[in-house]
Amino acid sequence: MSFQHLHKMPTVEEILSDMPLSADLKTAKARRDQEIAAIFTGRSDKLIMIIGPCSADHEDPVCDYIARLAGLQQLVEEKILLVPRIYTNKPRTTGEGYKGMAHQPDPGKEPDMVEGLKAIRHLHIRALRESHLPAADEMLYPMNFDYLADVLSYVAVGARSVENQQHRLVCSGVDIPVGMKNPTSGDLEVMLNSVQAAQMPHVFVHNGWAVETSGNPLTHAVLRGSYNRYQQHDPNYHYEDLMGLADAYLKRGLANPALIVDTNHSNSAKRCHEQPRIAWEVMESRKYSSLLKKLIKGFMVESYIEEGAQNINDGIYGKSITDPCLGWAASEKLVLDIAAMV
Ligand code: PEP
Ligand code: MN
Repeated sequence: MSFQHLHKMPTVEEILSDMPLSADLKTAKARRDQEIAAIFTGRSDKLIMIIGPCSADHEDPVCDYIARLAGLQQLVEEKILLVPRIYTNKPRTTGEGYKGMAHQPDPGKEPDMVEGLKAIRHLHIRALRESHLPAADEMLYPMNFDYLADVLSYVAVGARSVENQQHRLVCSGVDIPVGMKNPTSGDLEVMLNSVQAAQMPHVFVHNGWAVETSGNPLTHAVLRGSYNRYQQHDPNYHYEDLMGLADAYLKRGLANPALIVDTNHSNSAKRCHEQPRIAWEVMESRKYSSLLKKLIKGFMVESYIEEGAQNINDGIYGKSITDPCLGWAASEKLVLDIAAMV
């Protein structure tokens, strides 16, 4: 084997006992989980917005950004629940490039998986302490989910992972909403198969244990657009796309049918400034169709302090080093405008 064993990783028990979540934050998260679940089960008419940078690259600007979200949350609390994106594990299309804080706690330095693990838990706990807004992260590596399970209020399975059995099985044991994205090919049946699989109970092996899960009824669909065979972006947020999905989704008879629209990625063709227009169009479609109004629970938005993206070593505070993000002023306006439309 060509593996070189660098470090034995700390166990979940070690990390959790070294970096515990305080009782007041546990209570704050539990309360928030109930409010979020009420949206997905249809008991609340509020919308959810999972909003924040493509990648959580540095602790200070990410916490600065989330403090702004906490202020904004107060202004829209009757209409929208804001869930910060703190994405610490980044999937890469060709394997090249920054793989997130879990790999590189300092994006300018070499990977360090032990320090990365500590850095992502540190960031999630600090952001929660300062904002009282429990966050979303991507489940990229199902085996490292347990290191963050107690701090997260939303999990996304990305377009490149959604067909993977291990992701689906682990999500069946998660007790917060899991968004299954459509794959990069755009095949909606793959996404719905994933929702269905995670809603079922399973027996499997997870982190050295044979485990049994009860299925996650809060697993739902996320539309992010796709690539066609010429690698051009193909959006799937228009009215006909949404109605087509609603039809296929409802035929399956799954628990809590719910849809989140990702306004960036292939829906915006990564033109981040198009996100407000895309969200506005989806809100109009929601107004037009009572079926869509019930199904569409909110948005996923890529947003940071500075608009756009930079190269990994440019060093601009609060500017994305992965996908281009909407800047703060436009993001604030987007949230206020959507609140006015709810
Ligand atoms: C993301 O949310 O930044 C992301 C990588 O999304 P996707 O899996 O849809 O490409
Ligand atoms: Mn992204």
